[in-house]
Amino acid sequence: MTVTTRFAPSPTGHLHVGNIRTALHNWLLAKKAGGRFLLRIDDTDAARSREEYVEAIRADLNWLGLEPDGEERQSARFDRYETGFATLREAGRIYPCFETAQELELKRKILLGRGLPPIYDRAALNLSDAERAEKEAAGVAPHWRFKLDHAAPIEWEDGIRGHQKFDPAQMSDPVVRRADGSWLYMLPSAIDDIAMGVTDVLRGEDHVSNTALQIQMFHVLNAEAPRFAHEALLVGSEGKLSKRLGSLGVAQLREAGIEPEALVALLARLGTSQPVEAIAERTAVVETFDLATFGRAPARFDEAELHRLNAQIVHRLPYARVSHLLPQGMGEDAWDAIRPNVAHMDEVADWWRIVTGPVDAPAFDEETRGYLANAADTLEAGDWGDDPWHTLTGALKAGTGRKGKALFLPLRQALTGMDHGPDMKQLLPLIGRERATARLREAAG
Ligand code: GLU
Repeated sequence: MTVTTRFAPSPTGHLHVGNIRTALHNWLLAKKAGGRFLLRIDDTDAARSREEYVEAIRADLNWLGLEPDGEERQSARFDRYETGFATLREAGRIYPCFETAQELELKRKILLGRGLPPIYDRAALNLSDAERAEKEAAGVAPHWRFKLDHAAPIEWEDGIRGHQKFDPAQMSDPVVRRADGSWLYMLPSAIDDIAMGVTDVLRGEDHVSNTALQIQMFHVLNAEAPRFAHEALLVGSEGKLSKRLGSLGVAQLREAGIEPEALVALLARLGTSQPVEAIAERTAVVETFDLATFGRAPARFDEAELHRLNAQIVHRLPYARVSHLLPQGMGEDAWDAIRPNVAHMDEVADWWRIVTGPVDAPAFDEETRGYLANAADTLEAGDWGDDPWHTLTGALKAGTGRKGKALFLPLRQALTGMDHGPDMKQLLPLIGRERATARLREAAG
């Protein structure tokens, strides 16, 4: 069976780094196995779902290079949920409940007050037909619970957490449908996983107990449960899920100059035993992805680390990847010369201005001005050749006896207006003979 994974966001907001990480891991899991990655829009909640978020989710995945191999929407599948619901009902595994939210809350409080786990007492199961009819006649619409089979212990081999075991008698029968007929996430998700041939469900560990419940649903729906893996949640560098992290999404990261490769490289490895590395090639990220390396401790997301990684990644991005982001006229040689100095792509324009000018050189003392005039003459008279920087500095060294900083720094300052920057050997040919000579003359006064 083709490995099939899915990313199933609810379009009630923008994706944040935690969601993006889940999407990425599902994409990687599928691609590593040569399988399929599906996007499932969980939009059963019509009141909270918004089309603009659906579009933003697609755009974010696209920016990250996580193209889905198919897209489904839960809002278009209500008839299937009815059918699945009917199957469970016929199997005697769905029952109507009439408690109000307040009544349920009171039951919870009483149990907690006695030091007991707040498990639903199944009171609705014990209603007589007459009692049920009375509720209905009074206009109380039921909500519906899935009846867990207490005699069937729930076990699975989790791809990250290892062997998992749940006692269904220690769990509440989950509500699967509200009194207004709307669906809670649990049942539609199981129905869809079956219908879409999902073989691997990889999601956050906040879903572990949902998995236990869903495993019984799969069985009643006559389907084999997919493989499950639950990853530890993402937390901020301070050790908890901060507000900032919960709202940090592609838009802000893009704005901050983060490239998709950097975000992918970090999120692919965070929380695993593999080191975070500046891997810009997607194939290498896919090849090294391995659920067995995932740990149980929360993955710590550190924005400073992301920016460091971004710089390392930018330094190795090939020209073809960035050409559309470069200033007009900036070619491959210029990119190669400048990229080691760029931490974020928006800095490129400043470095390119060093090539095109004008530059703002500092004021030099008289002796240095003489040296720079000498450099201008040398440049004008000498052989430009393949490596004009080497030729120029070689001639000046021999002619003036200057060396090291005294030889190089005034030249760099006069030619670029800066004390540091790209390798002059690469930069000088880009500046060109005419502009370089003029800059040296100007600095020489
Ligand atoms: N829509 C659910 C969520 O965002 C999907 C969970 C799942 O992957 O099954 O939590």
